[in-house]
Order: sequence, then structure tokens, then C-alpha cells
Amino acid sequence: MTKYYITTAIDYSNGEPHLGHAYEKIGADCVARYRRLRGHDVYFSIGMDEHGQKVAQAAEAAGSDPQAWVDGIAQQFQAAWSELSISHDAFIRTTEPRHHGAVEELFRRIQHSGHISQGTYEGYYCVGCEAFKLEKDLVDGKCPVHPTREVKWLEEPNFFFEIGRFRQKLLDLYDANPGFIKPKSKSNEVYNVVSEWTDDQKMSVSRARVPWGIPWPGDDSHVVYVWFEAVINYLSAAAFPNPGYEAIWPADVHVIGPDIVRFHAAMWPAMLMAADVEVPRQVWCHGWVSTGGARFSKSAGVAVTLRNLIDRHGSDALRYFVLREIPWNADGNFTWERFDTRYTAELADGYGNLVSRVLAMIRRYRNAMVPDVSTPTPLDTAGDELVAAYRGAMDGHLLHEGADHAWKLVDRANGFVEQRAPWNLAKGGQDAELDETLAALSRALARITLMASPFMPGKTQAVWEALGLPGEVSTASWQALEQPPTGGGSVQRLAPLFPKPAHVPQAVDK
Ligand SMILES: [Zn+2]
Repeated sequence: MTKYYITTAIDYSNGEPHLGHAYEKIGADCVARYRRLRGHDVYFSIGMDEHGQKVAQAAEAAGSDPQAWVDGIAQQFQAAWSELSISHDAFIRTTEPRHHGAVEELFRRIQHSGHISQGTYEGYYCVGCEAFKLEKDLVDGKCPVHPTREVKWLEEPNFFFEIGRFRQKLLDLYDANPGFIKPKSKSNEVYNVVSEWTDDQKMSVSRARVPWGIPWPGDDSHVVYVWFEAVINYLSAAAFPNPGYEAIWPADVHVIGPDIVRFHAAMWPAMLMAADVEVPRQVWCHGWVSTGGARFSKSAGVAVTLRNLIDRHGSDALRYFVLREIPWNADGNFTWERFDTRYTAELADGYGNLVSRVLAMIRRYRNAMVPDVSTPTPLDTAGDELVAAYRGAMDGHLLHEGADHAWKLVDRANGFVEQRAPWNLAKGGQDAELDETLAALSRALARITLMASPFMPGKTQAVWEALGLPGEVSTASWQALEQPPTGGGSVQRLAPLFPKPAHVPQAVDK
């Protein structure tokens, strides 16, 4: 079995989960579920980034000690991921001993190889960013991200990582693996930054004044700088440095947001090279989901919390919507209008309606037994083509395109019902053609349900069972998608999959 290790960025423990956090988990979960459908041995890791000054400050502001604070936040995130059906295998928290052990060992190896030096760091420091700032990056003497706070001039002894030594090795890595950083625009950005490094380029990787962190191996007057510590979670979750961790590592893909692409595509591989550990195979950068438009605020009238997003049409519909609406390789917008429009047109009137009419016809005309007829129809041919297109899109992580191919088959199947008019075949006693039609529709429905399963695991399981198909949709084989089961089973009644609540307006073209 091909192993497939997928990670998301770990979430910073200074507030509640929101749509931005959820979008990344939903997309990565869709990739993980798709890879399982393809027959891969998937290991899917998510988690929490729990150290650093901002966490300590948030805890203090809440009158809590840092560990109690991060415990509470981790519970909130885990509850959200459970509600959104995120199928992770590991939930790594950076306050866990297994992470401490991995961080210590990785930095011990980097130090042992002679790539750590000691020196003094001085400069303007923004507590909001937990980062030193260059004078040229300040606006009116303040951090542009935190204009209400004063930056401080700080000097402190630090450990430095001699990252400039890895410039050529990184450029060679990018040249040899054109898909290492996706999308292309991000790849160019990182390439340009690394190209400009000097041979003696250093990065400060410890902090002397932050108490809430992991002690530097061999010098506990420092902690490992939170950025360089958090990223090591991907190794911790794979049980590094314990024997056998290479069964999971390297990561096949790190899914991240655009703000941390340099860290993941340059600093992180350089750290691994310095420690003589294999580098990840790909860094996938998704875009931002924007909810801040005036139109959005006006129509919503309330803040967009994860709670009201899920409550609108349920968690599966939210998963489907964000992955269909917002390209997995670009920025996008969330609006309630688009959510309601797609819900009504594609879920209620599209997939949901197809399911209910096919089940109803098999019950009415064939006593709930799917006819055992495998004669190929034009609907099967369309299905073959769309399954191949779906595979191409999903293999390349183009989730929005994958969903689009699956829904093209929904349209084809609904068109097939109109064209064949089974009610007329039944009335006219055309039994052979009616059997062929209903069998083809049940095959198409099985295919659509399998293709949709990484997007909507709950709803598709309900349809799978109603179709009388065996087992769980989440453990079905790829073979079932290429050659869908034909006939013999009995179908069940199913409550409307996507009810239309009164507050949801009817679809309007936009
Ligand atoms: Zn700042």
C-alpha cells in the first residue's frame, strides 16, 4: 500500500476556531479521504501551536495559567473538527512530551552537525508578531500589523541557525522538483527570497526572554523560538525520533496558508537538511477565504462564526460549499447568497433530488430491487469520462474541479431521467428498457456518491446505505468507482437529504 502523509498547519492557541481554520482542515480532509478512496495508507495530522508570548499573554488576559488556557482552546478546536467530520489520525499539541522530545532531538542534530552558532541579536521587536522587525518594515516607527503597540529595541544572546549554507541545496531541491511548492506563484516567491540569501545568512532560533516554550537543548536560559519549534510538529506526529518513524515520514504534502509558505518551503527543509532528515515532498499553499465584504456584512447582519456557518445548512453542506466555491489553489469569497444558491441548486435540487427520484422509481416500478442489468448506456459512458476527469483533478489537489466533475454527472443523470422518462416506459410495459434505465441510474448514483464522499462524508454514507450498497462509503474501493456495482440490492426509503429551511431564499442566478 502506498503511504500518504498529509498535514495541516497547527493552529495558534490564542482564540476560537473560525472559518479560516476550518477551510484548511476541510480541504485537507477532502484530500485525505480521496487518497483513502484511491487505496493509499493515509496518515493525516492536525494540531495546536501552544507556545510563545502571544499565547502566554492571551492566557494572562483571561486570568488563566498558560497550560489551562491551551487545554481549553484545544478542546474547542477538537469539538469543531469532530462536528465537521475531520478524519485526522493524529492531533498533535506542542505542549506534549512527544513534541518536546522531537524538538530537542532535531536541534541536537543540527547543533551536532555544526550549523548552530551563538551571537547577539538586536533590533526592534514587536510583541504582537513575536518577531524582530527591520527598520525599513516599520511604518511611523510602529509595526504595520500592530500599529497601536510600541515596538521595543531589544538586545539578547541568541542561538543562530546558519541557514545561508543551505541556499544552493534548496535551489537544487526546487529545480529538481518543480511541484515542490504549489501554486506556481508561491514557488516563484520562495525561489526569489532564497536566491538572495548570502552564504553567511543566519536566523535566530532561540529566545532568552520568553518563559513559555521548550528549553534549548543544553541551555535552559533559552527557549526554542516558537516558529522554529512549531514546525517540528510534523515530525513529532510521525513519532520522530523513535525507530520506524520513516514509515510515515517524509510528509507527502504540507497543506498551509500563504502567510507561512517561506517557513515551510525554505526554513523547514533547510532545518531538515542540517539534521540529515528527509525533506517533505510538497508544500501546498491554499488561498484566503474572505468574508469581510460590505455586501456580506449587510446581508448577514451578524458576525460570521463557525457556529452560524454550520447551523445554516449543516456541516456537510458547509464542507461542500467552501470547497466548490473557493478554488483550493487561490483566494475566494464567502457570501451567504452564494451559499444559499449552491445549496438550493446543487444539493437540494441537484444531488438530493436525483437521489430521491431514483430511489422512488426503483421502489415504485421494481419493488425496491435494483434491476440486475449491466448493459452500458450513454450515462455509463459519460460516467467513465467524468470519473477519469475527477481523478485527474483530485490527484492534482484541484478539489473545486473534482467537485465540478462529480456534479456534471448529477446533471447528466437528471437529464437521462428526463430523456428516458421511466414513467412512460412503465406505462407502456417496456420492461427491458425500464430495467436498463434504472440500473444505469443506480450505477451513476453510486459513482456520484463515491466522488462526493470526500466532500460530504455524512450525507454520502446515508445515500450509500439507501442504495443498498455494502459497507461504508469511506472504506469503499476505487474499483467500485470505475466499475460501479450493478443490481441485485434493495433500496431503502430516505428522508430528504437537503431540506429547504424557510429562511433560505429560492435560488436566483447571480
Ligand atoms: Zn507586529
